[in-house]
Amino acid sequence: MKPPPPTSQQGHQSQQSWAATTIVLDHTATRKPAIIKIADGIYCAHDYAVANVFLIVTDTSVVVIDSTESLSAARAILNDFRKISSLPVSYLIYTHHHGDHTRGAKEFCSSETKVLAHRLLPQEIARKNLFLPHRERINSQQYATALRFAKDGYIAPTTTFEHHYTFNEGGISFDLSHAPGETEDHVRIWLPQQKVLFPGDLFYGCFPMLNNPLKPTRPVSVWTESLDHMLTLQSEHLAPSHGLPMHGAAVIAETLVKYARAIRHIHDATVRCINAGQSLDATLREVRLPPELASLPYLREKYGKVAWTVRGLFRQYTGWYDFNPSGLNANPESLRQRVLLEVCGVSPLVERAQRALREDEPQLVLELANVILAGWPGHLRARRLRLSALHRLAAASVSSMERNIYSHAATAAQAALDGRTTLGTNRARSDIT
Ligand SMILES: [Zn+2]
Repeated sequence: MKPPPPTSQQGHQSQQSWAATTIVLDHTATRKPAIIKIADGIYCAHDYAVANVFLIVTDTSVVVIDSTESLSAARAILNDFRKISSLPVSYLIYTHHHGDHTRGAKEFCSSETKVLAHRLLPQEIARKNLFLPHRERINSQQYATALRFAKDGYIAPTTTFEHHYTFNEGGISFDLSHAPGETEDHVRIWLPQQKVLFPGDLFYGCFPMLNNPLKPTRPVSVWTESLDHMLTLQSEHLAPSHGLPMHGAAVIAETLVKYARAIRHIHDATVRCINAGQSLDATLREVRLPPELASLPYLREKYGKVAWTVRGLFRQYTGWYDFNPSGLNANPESLRQRVLLEVCGVSPLVERAQRALREDEPQLVLELANVILAGWPGHLRARRLRLSALHRLAAASVSSMERNIYSHAATAAQAALDGRTTLGTNRARSDIT
């Protein structure tokens, strides 16, 4: 098959292209794979998979950054790229351990290929592998689809480093630096001669997933420090691992400054609320992005959410105790719900839930339905109300992950109402982001 011709991107990203950044994980969108030329000899394989792959042609070889989540996507990239260069792959560099960056590695590597990563990457992979059944379950929720990953093509690094690593390959200098943020093992790559910066997942065109509700906590406070450091490089091309490359030193600097400012604002405002002794609920009401940042197309909450960040930081910094003694050794929630049901009776709760649905308060419907179903799991009206609420919450979601979680729950609820069960059928074998 004829490969897509390399295309060149000029100017900064349009609002539309921010919306198309692949990090939003819209599995219903049609992929438009393309090899995009970033600068002379530097290419981005975009939209073959969840994350980009970068290929740098030197005088003697090709250096590859990241590998996608699947061997088939990696193979498609290499097939197309072989029309541009047939040189061997000398290095594969991982930006971090997430599956959308590491699982296609075997396609790119020969026995001669050196694989570079941060020192922490192998132990992050090992920790992830401890929880494979759990991760399959949560990823089926995160993606709300029968997303299946073929064999894991991860290859362990042959060389790791702690802070900084440089090398020259075929006349091109590569400068790697530890840049924690999305993960502890995150690396940014810098080509000083060509002024191309690869920030990995520390920048993508929407509000970042600073705290993923399904995954371990992330080092938010150092994320901004990593971005600050990247700013000092004054890059002329920015090639994030999700979304399209950007060009132009001024627009890149302005974008990174505002991205870092947004993260710092949410982090610092949450810390102030904690120190002021505010509850989580009060903090959630108070902490917002300033309007001038919230209105930026690359800070829309299409993936991460401000409220999820606040929740995550609160728990990360204060522990799980909610400072209400009733929560210290709380009864199971189901016991509390059954007692409420005993006191209130089913009918008033159902009527109140129906009113909440009429008044478009689907979150309240969900919570009231939970109370009813705790004591009466087969209650048909409560189950239907819950299903309606899930559909409304999914439809109203801006964040792709939020929409997927509600949609997954709605599919399971509908199947249970129909007498089927889908639990376990939408299994995703992945470890992305
Ligand atoms: Zn990623």
